[in-house]
Amino acid sequence: MIIVLLGPPGSGKGTQAKVLSEKKGWPQLSTGDMLRGAISQGTKLGLEAKTFMDKGELVPDSVVIGLIQERTSATDCQNGYILDGFPRTIAQAQALDELLLSQNKKISGCLYFKIDDQNLVTRLSGRRTCLDCGAMYHITAHLPQKEGVCDSCKGSQLVQRDDDQPEVIQNRLKVYHDQTSPLVDYYDQNSEMVTIDASLTLEEVKNAVWDKLGSW
Ligand code: AMP
Repeated sequence: MIIVLLGPPGSGKGTQAKVLSEKKGWPQLSTGDMLRGAISQGTKLGLEAKTFMDKGELVPDSVVIGLIQERTSATDCQNGYILDGFPRTIAQAQALDELLLSQNKKISGCLYFKIDDQNLVTRLSGRRTCLDCGAMYHITAHLPQKEGVCDSCKGSQLVQRDDDQPEVIQNRLKVYHDQTSPLVDYYDQNSEMVTIDASLTLEEVKNAVWDKLGSW
């Protein structure tokens, strides 16, 4: 299955992608994680991407499309994958459609995580991310079992991402509304799309995702 997770930053796409990936064995393809990986390795691509990410802007389409083309050709993607944070523009969605057409594949469905901005600001500003594995926590709503230690990889670097700072959050939301939200109509018209109420608890959202997947 090839599943697109669509929604604003902080809507829980990454968390649900991890759950699905663990349960189903489909790799989670997060362009945000790929870009952060490139930054921590100090590659040229990483350095270029950082200038956009620090401001909450989108990295150029050609860069992320290239990453997805390369990653989806790996052997672990042949039985499907979960797209988390890609596509984020109409041009990216069209490039994905072309790529899949050339491989004789198609998107199985799109899960749209719907949530209002006020909720997102609270979530993003309290978010803590594990520097080692990318797992996400929240200072009130989702604490790790042991304070300061990641439940998944036992790493001890739970930090606030630079782009989860208040001014950058506002810009990321603006960018989402301007450039990414048109994809809601795009997927509603071009493939099977299901809307999930992403303001619910992690467990409730997980159950909703699970219910929908059964019918695809
Ligand atoms: P995320 O971890 O998905 O919230 O992404 C963090 C940042 O990485 C975004 O604010 C963008 O700067 C960049 N990014 C991630 N995915 C994409 C994408 N598909 N297109 C452009 N920029 C992206």
